[in-house]
Amino acid sequence: MSSELKPYLKEMADLYKKIHEFESGVQLRYTYSPLEQAHHYRKEDIETVAEALSGPLDFTAEEVGKIKEALSSGKIDFMDLTSDNGKMSEDDFQLLYIISRPFFKSMKNTMNMDNMFWPDGSCSVCGAKPSLSLIEKESQRKYDCSVCGNEGYYMRIGCPSCLSENPQDINIITLEGEEGMRGDLCDRCKSYCKTFESSMIADHSIEYLDILSIPLDIIAQEKGFNRRAPNPVGLMKML
Ligand SMILES: [Zn+2]
Ligand SMILES: [Zn+2]
Repeated sequence: MSSELKPYLKEMADLYKKIHEFESGVQLRYTYSPLEQAHHYRKEDIETVAEALSGPLDFTAEEVGKIKEALSSGKIDFMDLTSDNGKMSEDDFQLLYIISRPFFKSMKNTMNMDNMFWPDGSCSVCGAKPSLSLIEKESQRKYDCSVCGNEGYYMRIGCPSCLSENPQDINIITLEGEEGMRGDLCDRCKSYCKTFESSMIADHSIEYLDILSIPLDIIAQEKGFNRRAPNPVGLMKML
């Protein structure tokens, strides 16, 4: 992995650090689970989340006020992030993603379903399709959910989005000079997953690897393939 980050990657990495800092700074009072009817913050947590946004992420008081209002309206459904229906603007999607991170982290911890098999290729906690995977020893392929951070197993060869098991549907792309990472592009549904050798997470979290490998997203998207889940700064489209 190149040690010098290109300027746009550095910008993304800095934003990711701020988002991570925001998320780590939020101590929710309530414990969330997917089984609830409403997928948003309870009254007692709205203030905490809104306050934390004005810290590392530099939201202005006016912006925080608007976000608080939106959260209090009860109309926000964080699960909209798991079904990319394209109804939201990219900015709204990104903001919703950032705000929802403590919520999904709580949900993942409540469910405690790490390392299970995902029979339908979707995250067993929040239902999102994966965009990241790790090849482990014995060639097992572990998927990482970009929405809630849950990890689970699915077929080594195949597409978790359309469930194709035909190896001919999958094309691999790599970056020159970058070892240990690749893109798995599915011709059948035009989605892709980025895959890392598991030894790479010794140095970086998978979320950080997602940022460092944005050049792979760019190549895949230039070829007409789509991410099924946002990256750790809430972006789906890189072009
Ligand atoms: Zn998930
Ligand atoms: Zn597919």
